[in-house]
Amino acid sequence: MKYVDEFRDPAVIARTAEEIRRLADPGRHYRLMEVCGGHTHAIYRFGLKDVLPPNLELIHGPGCPVCVLPMGRIDDGLTVAREPRVTFAAFGDMMRVPGAHGSPLEHKAQGLDVRIVYSPTDALKLARTSPDRHVMFFAIGFETTAPSTALTLMRARAEGIENFSVFCNHVTIIPAIRAILDSPDMRLDGFIGPGHVSTVIGCRPYEWIARNEGKPIVVSGFEPLDLLQSIVMLLRQLREGRAEVENQYKRVVPWEGNRAALAAMAEVFELRPYFEWRGLGFISQSALRLRDAYARWDAERVFSVAGVRVTDPKAAQCGEVLKGVLKPPQCKLFGRECTPEHPVGALMVSSEGSCAAYYNYEHRKTTVPLTALTPA
Ligand code: SF4
Repeated sequence: MKYVDEFRDPAVIARTAEEIRRLADPGRHYRLMEVCGGHTHAIYRFGLKDVLPPNLELIHGPGCPVCVLPMGRIDDGLTVAREPRVTFAAFGDMMRVPGAHGSPLEHKAQGLDVRIVYSPTDALKLARTSPDRHVMFFAIGFETTAPSTALTLMRARAEGIENFSVFCNHVTIIPAIRAILDSPDMRLDGFIGPGHVSTVIGCRPYEWIARNEGKPIVVSGFEPLDLLQSIVMLLRQLREGRAEVENQYKRVVPWEGNRAALAAMAEVFELRPYFEWRGLGFISQSALRLRDAYARWDAERVFSVAGVRVTDPKAAQCGEVLKGVLKPPQCKLFGRECTPEHPVGALMVSSEGSCAAYYNYEHRKTTVPLTALTPA
């Protein structure tokens, strides 16, 4: 199979790991942030840190959309779900995320009409086939998933489907990276740039990180060799005193992004003045809302939404883990009160959450050893 075999070849992986050890200055400690939750998952799944030198630390970033959603937004969405004739539709990884009064799945158990959908168009289909219900799609995700929400809204408008709305929680990656760089307790040497988001936005939006902050960033794929190659590229830049944006994931990510997807987003969405992120607080211009032309499909305008703010349970340290200040097992609840079966925080729910990834692979010792990888 093309594009998997090549990136799981144990001999090439061993050579690349050797190159990393050669490039890393033993007198220096490196802190590289993988922005994307998909990368965090792959790093734990394949036990990548086992082949890295001890002075190279990978810091998990805020790129898991389920994890950065504050509890209040879930509660607001579930309040709408309690309205008569409303169907709450969301992706499966939202279902077990706890709100202050329970998760969507727990609300389903109490009799609310909560459905798992695989795409926003599934939710629109549900609205078409259920004219006596109002289907509200609880949209989450970065620029990766925002275009499909935008296209679905364009379709709803074109077809005049009025029993459908979107509760929009789409966020944008660049302001989150900026907030992390502005954080006084964060020292980073470079970034493994997000692969999925970059298929839409391209590489150009990261140029300020290199130019203004002097940090290299390498947009990376998700296979073990992708990540190791990206680390090699970052170490080369650091060794040569360069700070540039490089694209390791050229087979998927166009430098200029996906123009059609960006155009659909621009047609439907505008930036919110500010939005709350779990762990990072309020970040200006970091999330999307529907333009006035789409107001009749905007759940926050169709229904009355309180905009509740809920603080995380006191002992939960999701914020510190999200910012990369703490590692998952350093949270007092990790593996005891908080497990994938009984999650306290969203980082333990999504497969892209660093706590779930650490628990499922490192804690349970189910890592796939790199030496045992065989071509798929
Ligand atoms: S272990 Fe649970 S409570 Fe602690 S940071 Fe992770 S998700 Fe949050």
